Order: sequence, then structure tokens, then C-alpha cells
Amino acid sequence: MTIKLYNTRTRRKEAFVPLDPENVRMYVCGPTVYDRAHLGNARPVVVFDVLYRLLRHEFGADHVTYVRNFTDVDDKINARAAESGRPIGEITAETTQWFLDDMAALGALEPDAMPRATAYIPQMVAMIEELIARGHAYAAEGHVLFAVESYAEYGALSGRTVEDMIAGARVEVAPYKRNPMDFVLWKPSPADLPGWDSPWGRGRPGWHIECSAMAHELLGESFDIHGGGNDLMFPHHENEIAQSRCAHPEGDFARVWMHNEMLQVEGKKMSKSLGNFFTVRDLLDEYDERFGIENIGPAIRLRLMQSHYRSPVDAALSYVEASATKLAEWWFWTELHRPEPLSEDEKFELINESPFLSALLDDLNTPAAISEIDAKVSQLRVIPENHTNIESYSNDKEKIAKQVLAWIGFLGFDFDGLKQLHPSHWQNRLKSRNLEFNELIENLVKERAEARLEKNFARADKIRDGFIAAGVTIKDSSEGTTWELKPGFDPSKLEALK
Ligand code: AMP
Ligand code: ZN
Repeated sequence: MTIKLYNTRTRRKEAFVPLDPENVRMYVCGPTVYDRAHLGNARPVVVFDVLYRLLRHEFGADHVTYVRNFTDVDDKINARAAESGRPIGEITAETTQWFLDDMAALGALEPDAMPRATAYIPQMVAMIEELIARGHAYAAEGHVLFAVESYAEYGALSGRTVEDMIAGARVEVAPYKRNPMDFVLWKPSPADLPGWDSPWGRGRPGWHIECSAMAHELLGESFDIHGGGNDLMFPHHENEIAQSRCAHPEGDFARVWMHNEMLQVEGKKMSKSLGNFFTVRDLLDEYDERFGIENIGPAIRLRLMQSHYRSPVDAALSYVEASATKLAEWWFWTELHRPEPLSEDEKFELINESPFLSALLDDLNTPAAISEIDAKVSQLRVIPENHTNIESYSNDKEKIAKQVLAWIGFLGFDFDGLKQLHPSHWQNRLKSRNLEFNELIENLVKERAEARLEKNFARADKIRDGFIAAGVTIKDSSEGTTWELKPGFDPSKLEALK
């Protein structure tokens, strides 16, 4: 089976042929570690996690190397340290761990290597020296700049000419630049900022050279896939290509360039600078506190997969909740026909040559793969009329349930972990957390029943409205009244009814 991937570089969907099937190599630009990751930052993590799983399936888990960096030297980090008065190392170490914890909650596998930029300064300096020696970079006033005019293909990835780029980009004009498009490889650091000794004085690297140097060190001068959000295509990826191709003209740098579209809020990219973001941690905590859901992470993961990675996706929380409901249903109907746990071989067979896998092979069509799961789960819900023989009926269901189990697992969901998304689970959790209010609710339910008997409808309605306001759902039936706590249950509103 062949994986087809859309290559930004050629603007075509192409059959993916690795340079070396024994070692398929992928680099994805990682976070700058100064703050919690927002939901948009999670999108490339989930997208390339699915690709990583697919590559491991096709080429073998031991034959794929996935590298994702941490940018731990950056002016945003310096600014955060200055405003908080905390040491830089403390901020980057803490934020790095936050990122790992939050992405683990989303079910993302850790890459094989997660290099920190500050551990690769000598490689960056060596690459910059190589660029100067080859006439692609120049030192000026403690800076080293890449000479954009020295690389004829500059702009090819994003399809721009140098003139377009000058016109469209907010390029920093500086006296030491020969051409306004020239970009910084190295810049001087004053004593109070992080800096390393170099042939150009004490300084620190520019952002773009970090990825070029780390990718070269860990994956070589030619590797298979380079990924990131499409907001990185220009200038970051364009600059990575220029640096790497000019320092190592014998190599291709990355063969296939993949870019995920943006997660949006009301039609605009979710971003720190626009202030329209919420962090993954906010959601994890909020759904735990308000809903009693231990980990909403799988629902965020599914939500991010429900759009194709080259289409925008809307961040509205109602969608995340709908994704939680879908996962709870997948869990419930599969659990009902609970198959035996699957062996690795069985899983492989159930995935191979399936329509589910075909969807993923086609440029990671996760929405189509999810539809395949939906179709199977709906077969678990119905009792087909032609099944008179109950035994064959349950065997069929078990077979389908096995398939669902394998497919759900392949997308990175821990099946047993989905139980906590089912309402029966989180409602019980909400109830047991609010045990102290059970008696109050019971008493009010009783009082309402009595008020109705006495035709004191004003009091009965007041209690009913109070329940609605507090987030208690009541259901009346011939057997009496039952109640449930809704997410966001607010006991103070009940107190007012006493
Ligand atoms: P940053 O820390 O801003 O460099 O971003 C880290 C990664 O998150 C990069 O691959 C970005 O392309 C990606 N990213 C940032 N914002 C969004 C968004 N709203 N939607 C999808 N990806 C994003
Ligand atoms: Zn990068």
C-alpha cells in the first residue's frame, strides 16, 4: 500500500517513497517554550502524530525517526524572564514539561528525538561558518546575515518572488543589512541576555538556523518529510531551506513539505498575539472541574482530526463537546459487544487493507477514516432483521467490535480511557463530588411534589426554575421524580431556594 501526501514544494499529491525505507525520517517544528500551548499549537502535534503512526504501520515502528524540537532560546522567552523576574532556564524547563504533559493528555506519542536548541549551538555556529565560506552569508556589526540574493531558489516553497516578499513582509530594515530581505543567522547578545562565544563575538542564534542545524545533525542533509503549520511556510521554512541547501548543496534537505491549516476562532487564526486563544490546560482543567470529565484530551484530539489537516478547523467548544459525545458512543457500543483484547498481529490485520486505512493513506484523510468508524459503530447499534440466528448475530457484532477497537486504537485513542467521556461516568462523578448537596436536592424535590399537591404552583415553579438555574435536571414520571447534575452545577443557586 502506498501513502500519498500533498507536497507543498511541488503542489501535488504524490506517492510517498522514502529515501531509505529502513529509516524514514521526519522533522516537525516544535514550540517556543515560554508559555502553555494553545489549542492551535496542538493541531500540528496531532496531525503529525497520526502521520507518525501511519509511517510506523507501513514501514515498521523501528524504521521511523521523528524529530520535533524545542526552541528554548528566543526573544519571547527573554521578555517573559524579564517581566516575571524568573531565570530563563526555569521558565523553559517548566514550559517544556507542560508541553509534554498536555500533549500526552491528547494521546500524542513522543517523537524519537526532541532536541533543545541550546544543546546544538556548536552545530549552528559551524553551519553559519560554512555559509560564510560558501559566500551565502556575511558578518556585519556583530550580526551574521544570510544573503538572500545568493540563493536563486529563494521563495520557491511559498511561490513568492523576492520582490513580492519585500512588498508583503514586514522586513526589518537595518543598517547592517545589504538587502532588506536578508535574515539573521546570529545576533549579538548583551551581558544580561543568553549568549555564546562565537567567531562574531558573544551572541545567540536566529530562530531559523536552529531547525536547519538540528535537522542536519539528527537526520542528515537529505531526509523525507518536514512539517509544521502553514503560518511557518514563510519566512521560517523558506529560510530553513535556503540555509540548509546552501550549507549542504550535496543534499536535498527535506523532500516532502507538509503544512497544516490553522485552527480558527470566528474565522481568525488562534494565536497568542491576537489574544483569541485558550490553552489545552485550560480545557483539561475546566472540563474536569465543571463536567467531572477526568481528561477531555481525547475529545480535543478527535475534534482536531474531524477536519482534514489542509482545511481550517473551528475552535468552538460546542464542537469539542460533540466530539466527546461521539467518542462516548464509540466506547459504549463497542464495550457492549466487548471483544477479547487484540494481539498486535490481529490489530495489524484488522487495519491492513481496510477502507479505514485507505482513507488515511490518501493524504491523511482523517474525516473519512472517522466516517468508517462511525459506519461500523452504527452497525453495532442495530439488530438486522435477517439475523434469526442469535449466535451468528453476536459473532458478527463481535467481529465488528474488534474492527472498531483496532481502528480507534490506531487513531491514538486508548479505548478504556474513553469510558470517562460517557455521561453515566461523569454524572456519577459530579454527583459524588457534590454529595453534601444531595440531601438539599432531595428535600427540594419533595417540597416541590408537596407544593404541587397543595396547588401551590408559585412555590413549585420557583423550585423548578431554581433547579434549572443551578444546573439540576429533573424528570417527572409515574414512578416519581429523578434528578441529574448538569455540567457547571452551581449549588449557591440552590441555597437561595431554602
Ligand atoms: P509557535 O510556538 O507559534 O511557533 O507554534 C508552534 C506550532 O504551532 C507551529 O507549527 C505553528 O504552525 C503551529 N500553530 C500556531 N498557531 C496555530 C493555529 N492557530 N492553528 C494550527 N497550528 C498553529
Ligand atoms: Zn523550524
